[in-house]
Amino acid sequence: MLPTSQNVAVLGSTGSIGRSALEVIAASEGRLRAAALSAFANTELLVRQAHQFRPQYVVAADLETAAGLKQADLPPECQLLVGPEALVRVAALPEVDVVLTAIVGSAGLHSTWAALEAGKTVALANKETLVMGGGLVTALAAERKAAIIPVDSEHSAVFQALQCGRRCDVRRVVLTASGGPFRTYTLEQLAAVTIDEALAHPTWRMGRKITVDSATMMNKALEIIEARWLFDLSADEIGVVVHPQSVIHSLVEYIDGSIVAQLSPPDMKLPIQYALTYPERRASPATKFDWTQSHKLEFFPPDPARFPALELGLEAARVGGTAGAVLNAANEAAVAQFLAGEIRFVDVVPACRSVLEQHEFEAHPTLDRLIECDRWARREMQNWICH
Ligand code: NAD
Ligand code: MG
Repeated sequence: MLPTSQNVAVLGSTGSIGRSALEVIAASEGRLRAAALSAFANTELLVRQAHQFRPQYVVAADLETAAGLKQADLPPECQLLVGPEALVRVAALPEVDVVLTAIVGSAGLHSTWAALEAGKTVALANKETLVMGGGLVTALAAERKAAIIPVDSEHSAVFQALQCGRRCDVRRVVLTASGGPFRTYTLEQLAAVTIDEALAHPTWRMGRKITVDSATMMNKALEIIEARWLFDLSADEIGVVVHPQSVIHSLVEYIDGSIVAQLSPPDMKLPIQYALTYPERRASPATKFDWTQSHKLEFFPPDPARFPALELGLEAARVGGTAGAVLNAANEAAVAQFLAGEIRFVDVVPACRSVLEQHEFEAHPTLDRLIECDRWARREMQNWICH
């Protein structure tokens, strides 16, 4: 049994995952409590959330926007903290039971690391942390006996399906991918896609970065690496299938040929709640499957020619070391450049490959080396774009 009330630090509470997490907390009838909230630039929403959820701490991570925020804007029991260091502090607070890491990108690394170092249970949405430093992060979690419970819908599905058998009887894990808005596009059509088209995902409503990642299928590449570390799989044990309906969230195939899947409508409130209440299940505010309607579930093999990101993800998962940090940072920089109108959609993945191929690979990097790799890859991406 879980304690009667769990204190949750919601890091990135103003984002898509953060807002869904607060809906889950609001519907939990007091079993989940928001102990800390954080935002980068959207301090207006952060203040509104503070008034609704009354956390002990509110973190404004961006110093510039934090300057416009005053303690008096918050309810009297909320303490205002500012800057990136404050994220690290709230992730390790003794009164926090679970840290939900819903910051986007490598900016989530330090607070996730701090939570694990303090032995907290981490409900992990920030996949980029595992992509960057999966080997070091999982070793730290094991050393501190800190659990990492996946929030990413595919990994939550695998986590659930793995409970149906013995680990030694798993043949492979198959991650599902919606295929994004350009699933049926030809190479010529892909060359002409606009920013707005890339931001219009057919089945999921998410933040901008992950929405573009879904359109290039780099999101699935990052998820291959995430699965490699979360479940201690080799790259050859991880497959991807395109499933446009986003109802089957992933599958585990056992050695006897039996395949166990987890199904639910595409709604992140379900995996978020499961990560916060695991091992218990409770009634949830997530959308329920409509059994009064006919449904069609389709599967297609992914096309590596139109979506070359997948191969990059498999390569990085295979070699480990510094490859994940370089791929992740190159992709973050390339997506930002695409969203700024500086490169085309079809340039994102080749640019990442080029940066990955140029980097000086190291098999057993330290955390500082990974952070250096992250900075180097962002600079390299800048050069790639200028040429
Ligand atoms: P989002 O852009 O909607 O929200 C990001 C949050 O992080 C915001 O609260 C923002 O204020 C904060 N933030 C941004 N930059 C920051 C910085 N430099 N320092 C501190 N805080 C910062 O993103 P999202 O879609 O909610 O995704 C969050 C994470 O969850 C990502 O790692 C993403 O890959 C993962 N994820 C998201 C979904 C989804 O459905 N949105 C699904 C699976 C996994
Ligand atoms: Mg996912």
